[in-house]
Amino acid sequence: MKRGTLLIHNGHDADPVTGALGVPVVQTSTFDQRDVSKPQEYDYARSGNPTRKALEETIAVLEGGSKGYAFGSGIAAVSSVLGIFSAGDHIVTAEDIYGGSWRILNTFYKRWGLEATAVDAADPEAIRQAIKPNTKAVFLETPSNPLLKITDLKRCIGIAKEAGLLSIVDNTFMTPYLQQPLALGADIAVHSATKFLGGHSDAISGLAVTKTEELGKQVYAVQNGFGAVPGPWDVWLILRGIKTLKVRMEAQQASARKLAAWLSEHKQVAEVFYPGLEGHPGRTIHEAQADGPGAVLSFKTKTAESAIRFLGKVELAAAAVSLGGVETIASYPAKMSHASVPPQERARLGIADTLIRISVGLEDVEDLMADFDAALS
Ligand SMILES: *Cc1c(COP(=O)(O)O)cnc(C)c1O
Repeated sequence: MKRGTLLIHNGHDADPVTGALGVPVVQTSTFDQRDVSKPQEYDYARSGNPTRKALEETIAVLEGGSKGYAFGSGIAAVSSVLGIFSAGDHIVTAEDIYGGSWRILNTFYKRWGLEATAVDAADPEAIRQAIKPNTKAVFLETPSNPLLKITDLKRCIGIAKEAGLLSIVDNTFMTPYLQQPLALGADIAVHSATKFLGGHSDAISGLAVTKTEELGKQVYAVQNGFGAVPGPWDVWLILRGIKTLKVRMEAQQASARKLAAWLSEHKQVAEVFYPGLEGHPGRTIHEAQADGPGAVLSFKTKTAESAIRFLGKVELAAAAVSLGGVETIASYPAKMSHASVPPQERARLGIADTLIRISVGLEDVEDLMADFDAALS
């Protein structure tokens, strides 16, 4: 089956008990175990919940993995996956992974003895050079945030495999509709389901999918032991969002393509970053590993003042963090997602005071252009 069909028909077409097309929200903390001699599937909702299981099985099918797990947030999914490693282990990450992922590695896990080295993963050889005898995994994310840099997943995963390392890929920006890291060789895919999967800016949730059952057991031990699980209502919202992922992603991506091309020609815009643009340096690699450039782009204005003015004047985009919702969101990385990065480091990473990131929503793109034009001028 093709991916659009799988979003609808993935093993949860109808509830086997009632025939309901919506997955029932099982709002309970515990389960009756009258016959204690018989083990049963559900005993306590941290360990397992039928609504959550529906989402976990759905994401496993969509990512082509063997086991899926749901968490209370994307960062809970990342943290829980990192929980399979031990003190003394070392991880190589891309230097522009999601800020919260780097923060958990650089604070909490650092204190607990898990070491991490960040490299520019657009250069796969940099990954090879960072591998040490105690390296256990490579953690990648592509396209990167907020500059939409592309990492060659096959090459980087190949380097990890040669060295006997696990590969973990944060697939939030693309979703399994556009990119499937496990098919490219990765061992674990992680998601902030808060973004495109949920799609409506109304729930926080995270997901992880493992290629093998054995890795699944390790992640499950952290999910159950650490306990960063989502509630059934949030899970249900993500399940509902997934049903419309195809039409949302296709429409938002079509608008993003037009908006990126239009911005590239705009007098007040200095540079546009979008893997769907002709001149994007990672375009060929991206097209080989994903089915579209997605619906997130960023651009630089000519001055920092005009970036700040844009955020104040733009009407059809919320000035906010987050992405992947039906509404267009404009964010200002220097003061939002990357505010805690020291200015010098921000400059080195190219996160200028003129940089604005746009998550393109479902508004008519002509209206977005007119609004952006007014806000830029
Ligand atoms: C938002 C995001 C996360 C964190 O997810 P939360 O749901 O906010 O905890 C992780 N990775 C990427 C790429 C993200 O965009």
